[in-house]
Amino acid sequence: MSAPSLDPVLSRIDSDISAATERLLELLRIPSISTDPAYKGDCETAADWLVADLASIGVNASKRPTPGHPMVVGHAGPKGEGVPHVLFYGHYDVQPVDPLNLWDKPPFAPELQETPKGTVIRGRGSSDDKGQLMTFVEACRAWKAIHGELPCRITFFFEGEEESGSPSLVPYMKENADELKADIALICDTGLFGEETPAIVTMLRGLLGEELTVKAASKDLHSGMYGGIAMNPIRALSNVIAQLHDETGRITVPGFYDGVPELSDELKAQWAGLGFDASHFLGEVGLSVPAGEDSVTPLEMIWSRPTCEVNGIWGGYTGEGFKTVLPAEAHAKISFRLVGQQDPLAIRESFRAYVRSLLPADVEVEFKGHGASQAGQMETSDPAFEKARAALSDEWPQPAAFVGCGGSIPIAGHFQKILDMNAMLIGFGKDDDQLHSPNEKYDLNSFHKGIRSWARVLDALSR
Ligand SMILES: [Zn+2]
Repeated sequence: MSAPSLDPVLSRIDSDISAATERLLELLRIPSISTDPAYKGDCETAADWLVADLASIGVNASKRPTPGHPMVVGHAGPKGEGVPHVLFYGHYDVQPVDPLNLWDKPPFAPELQETPKGTVIRGRGSSDDKGQLMTFVEACRAWKAIHGELPCRITFFFEGEEESGSPSLVPYMKENADELKADIALICDTGLFGEETPAIVTMLRGLLGEELTVKAASKDLHSGMYGGIAMNPIRALSNVIAQLHDETGRITVPGFYDGVPELSDELKAQWAGLGFDASHFLGEVGLSVPAGEDSVTPLEMIWSRPTCEVNGIWGGYTGEGFKTVLPAEAHAKISFRLVGQQDPLAIRESFRAYVRSLLPADVEVEFKGHGASQAGQMETSDPAFEKARAALSDEWPQPAAFVGCGGSIPIAGHFQKILDMNAMLIGFGKDDDQLHSPNEKYDLNSFHKGIRSWARVLDALSR
């Protein structure tokens, strides 16, 4: 059911879609590659383009200098008691384009292409993140055109360094916290679930990295002379690694599961309704059997359960031929994906103590930490989440779901920690958009229905 104020906006979006697409193509022609200093001027140009485009819909926007590429910040919409205030975040920078020879068309000469799965907008940044960013701007444009004013107070916040590690973001947010603070942050940099199920990401896994150097003898030894009597550090390390999971797939580090939340029945039902096909998911990479904890579903394994993975292991002689060496050292890189309230630093301490306890005599270990970020958990009890979920369900053929994200999206955590704001991650990308790769595309359907989705979400949040 749509409110009377919404229907004319949706019609306006439909009739304006080719003009909206033209505007996006214009933005896509600007090669705003943030990591390469050669494109610094283009990043400025993209920021200027956005300032001008926001101004064209009545947003008081400006470019804000940082030590790197500028932020674009703008304000619009009604103010006053009881008027909801949202902040919208997107990024205007893009990934480098190499290898250029794998692109069918020049990456910054975007165009519409017909494919067996429908029309796509092809070009660097079409999905990540210019096309997604513009879905929100276009929804605002249509609302303004029909009603002369936005449905709620909106702060626009665009960054130009997301693809190069966002070095200026946290300092900028801290320095400008008063200006950026709103009731909730909306972030459009994620995807649909499958082809047409809208998704709101409400949990993001954190990450802890540890590098181990296990040492035994004072030098490399000959296995003919020392084999059998000397402890081999590769054997000691392998023994540790073999004990990090038990036979049910649970991680054995003491206290590891402290702070891992139980899923609500409501969320379990939503996830069951997604019809996730684990055998297809695994089959695409040549696997067949989920390897996580016995007691949880495959979706829980990638969204809501923590992991321990060995990312690298080396030591001894690995060159051509053979060398009968007992090496003095063995190495491994081990990472943990974290969920809920798991405390990365407590886990680091516990992991190190546990590893030491598993090592035999004469073996020592040195650790090097590689980053420790807590998981993100959105407060879905905020009514905005159910309002947005209902609004998205009205637009798409499948009902929307709260989903997890196995990877890390730091921006959501920054909004929570620095600005004390909940963040809603809603996006319309698809798994085959080729983000960061040659021939990136954004489905025209994602763009069109994405714009309509934001119009619905803004309408819902403003009521
Ligand atoms: Zn992105």
